[in-house]
Amino acid sequence: MDPDEVASIAGFLRNPQRAWEWLRQFKGLVDDRSPNAGHRALARLEELTAGRRFTVITQNVDGYHANAGNQRVLEIHGTIHRVRCHLRCGFAECWDPDSSKPFDCPACSAPVHPDLVMFGEMLDEEVFSAAENESLRADAFFSVGTSFTAQPAARPPVWAKSSGARVIEVNPHPTALSGLADFSIRSGALEFFEALCRVIEPNA
Ligand SMILES: [Zn+2]
Repeated sequence: MDPDEVASIAGFLRNPQRAWEWLRQFKGLVDDRSPNAGHRALARLEELTAGRRFTVITQNVDGYHANAGNQRVLEIHGTIHRVRCHLRCGFAECWDPDSSKPFDCPACSAPVHPDLVMFGEMLDEEVFSAAENESLRADAFFSVGTSFTAQPAARPPVWAKSSGARVIEVNPHPTALSGLADFSIRSGALEFFEALCRVIEPNA
């Protein structure tokens, strides 16, 4: 599938049925799978640091961080589990799995689409400014597994650094963030967070 046709707002408006069908298949894959050990390690880290403010800022749209148990998750690219009137009024509801065809907003009649940010659309302002606030007040910021190329999603670690947080990059490969980070750890997310949990809780 050409991402321009199925994952961009222009492609969606050209052929809503095709984009909708592709997104429905994607949602099917997400629903059939579940959080992996990396998600669970991150949720465990939140439990082990209970009493501290802990926020996950994610570009993922699959909902797995919340499913794994993280309490405060900011999904800056939205979620596949909801539909929303992005083009006009913001009406939103859960994506009914039986809803196999694109439909118009019951409130304003604009075309509704799954509540993820498509190419050519702006990020949700409310979610992104919450991500900014959390980044600015962080003591420690882990930037995990992102290539650090998609703007503006790459901004949070820069905000965190600018207000004095320790920034720890966790990535098997160097990225544009590596020079800015206080620590650049060449590791996958799973190995890193499992190891960190073991340090905090050595007998687990
Ligand atoms: Zn609407």
